[in-house]
Order: sequence, then C-alpha cells, then structure tokens
Amino acid sequence: MNEKSPQNCPACGKMVNYVSADHIVPASMIMKMPGFACLSKDNQIKTLNTPGNFAPLCPPCNMSKQAKLWHKWKGYKGGGFASGAPIKANQELTNQLLKGLKGQIKGLPWS
Ligand SMILES: [Zn+2]
Repeated sequence: MNEKSPQNCPACGKMVNYVSADHIVPASMIMKMPGFACLSKDNQIKTLNTPGNFAPLCPPCNMSKQAKLWHKWKGYKGGGFASGAPIKANQELTNQLLKGLKGQIKGLPWS
C-alpha cells in the first residue's frame, strides 16, 4: 500500500514522494479486541488489513503517530495538523472503525 507519486501528507500537509499506510485503529489495539485471538489466521490478517482502516502518512508522521489513535495524536512532534488537511483527528471516524472492526471479528457485516 505504498504510493510512489508525489502527494500531500494528510497530517502535516507536506508534499512528499513517499507515503506509507498507517493503521487508523492501531493493529495492536485490533489484536486485543474480544474474539480476535479466536479468528483463523486468514481472518486475522483480513481484519488487520481492512481497507478503510488505512491512511497514507509521510514516514516522519507515521513514526510520530505510531500506535496512537488519531484523536489522541497531536500531529508530528506535537505540532498539530496542516490547515486543510483532508484527514484530521477524527473521533467519529475512529469510533465507526472501532465498531466495524469489533463487528467484523464477530462475523457481522459493516453497517
Ligand atoms: Zn506528514
């Protein structure tokens, strides 16, 4: 999930040649969800790779965010987010993803 063409990092707003996919809901958090350990290996990988759970970030931002939730992350080195950044600390999106992922682990379709 790496893009080679120049684009704006959605957090810091810098034009970068390389972005990497960040888990919006961190993988470590997904793995602790009830029932995750009982899924088959295939379904665990599928759940960890849920397409809607990725945001492209430039490497410094990705390193800075690590396993934090978006609304707990204060931007690169705590410097906040670029104005007009398409992705901001979005608690609503995070909550939807948390709910969807928990449902997916239980075998429910995304609503
Ligand atoms: Zn960035």
